[in-house]
This record gives sequence, structure tokens and C-alpha cells, in this order.
Amino acid sequence: MKIVFLGPPGAGKGTQAVFITARLGIPHISTGDMLRRAIAEGSALGQKVKTVLDAGKLVSDELMIELIEQRLQQPDTQKGFLLDGFPRTVPQAEALEVLLKKINKPLTHILLLDVPEKVLVDRILKRGKESGRSDDTAEVALKRQKVYWELTAPVADYYGKLGRLIKVDGLGTIEEVQGKISAVLE
Ligand code: AMP
Repeated sequence: MKIVFLGPPGAGKGTQAVFITARLGIPHISTGDMLRRAIAEGSALGQKVKTVLDAGKLVSDELMIELIEQRLQQPDTQKGFLLDGFPRTVPQAEALEVLLKKINKPLTHILLLDVPEKVLVDRILKRGKESGRSDDTAEVALKRQKVYWELTAPVADYYGKLGRLIKVDGLGTIEEVQGKISAVLE
């Protein structure tokens, strides 16, 4: 299976992505993890993107498309893959279509883990209040929400208009959501 897994920050996408990829035995390609690794290693890429990640903003489409192009040429993607965190903008989604056509690995499933913006923002504000300070962490988390709803939600619409989007309700326990995802990947 060749899966794109979309969903807002805080919806539990990372946890579910680990579960799906373990079950299907396919690589979990998280662009966020790739960038954090580059930062930890202090590579040229890491140095370039650190401030962008710290601010909750998006790395340039150009850089991300190049990164994913290299990753999808690796032999382990032959059996399938799950993309987590990419595409993040409509231009990235368009570039991905072109790339996958070129390497003949068309997507089989485009999943959206659906959680409303209000639920996620309320969670962030509640956590901020409980910790007794409205700190940088809450601020960056809110920025990441804003960026998602402005730039990444249109990616779901892009696939929706093509009739290819599978929405999964992301509310409920981890196990409940796992069950709903498994059902659509049958
Ligand atoms: P994530 O772990 O997917 O939430 O990604 C963490 C951070 O990495 C994001 O807030 C962005 O700064 C950056 N990032 C990850 N994937 C992308 C992408 N496809 N396009 C642009 N920036 C990205």
C-alpha cells in the first residue's frame, strides 16, 4: 500500500502512523522526523531548517520536494510506504503526483485523520492554563495549528475534489481510532 496520511497537529497522527506501518510492514516516512534527525546531527540541512521548525513554520516546498524525491527512490519503498507530514501544501501535493507518476508508484490510499480545529485549539489552551503559564510551547502549538488550517487543510480538499480522500473520524480512544483506520485499509 502506498499511503498519504493527513491530519492536523495534535490529532494523534504520529501514533497511528506507527501502528499502521508496523502492521503493514511498510516504511513510515515522516518528514518531521527526517528534519529533526538532520537538526540533531547538525547537518547542513539541519542548520538550514532549525529556526523554521522552532517557529512552527513550514520549510520551503522546494527543499521538501527534493527530500521526499530522494527518499522515495530508496529500495525499501518498493513494497509500499506511508507518508506522514508530506504533502503539507498544494504545490507539494502536485509535485508528489508528478514524481509518483515518474517512478510508477501511484498512491493507493489518501487518509485524513479528521479532528476539528476547535477541539485541538481548546486542548492547547487547556494545557497552557493547567501548566499555569501561557508559554512559548503553547504559542508555537497555536502557530502550527494556524499553518495547518491555512496551508495543509487545502491539501485534503485537493484530494477530495479528485474523489480520492478517505476521511477517518479522529475522535475517540487510540484503540477506537486504530479500529476505524484498519477498517478503511481492508
Ligand atoms: P511534523 O513532525 O510533521 O509536525 O513536522 C515538524 C515540522 O517540520 C513542521 O512544523 C515543519 O516546520 C517541518 N515540516 C515537516 N514536514 C514538512 C513539509 N512537508 N513541508 C514543510 N515543512 C515541513
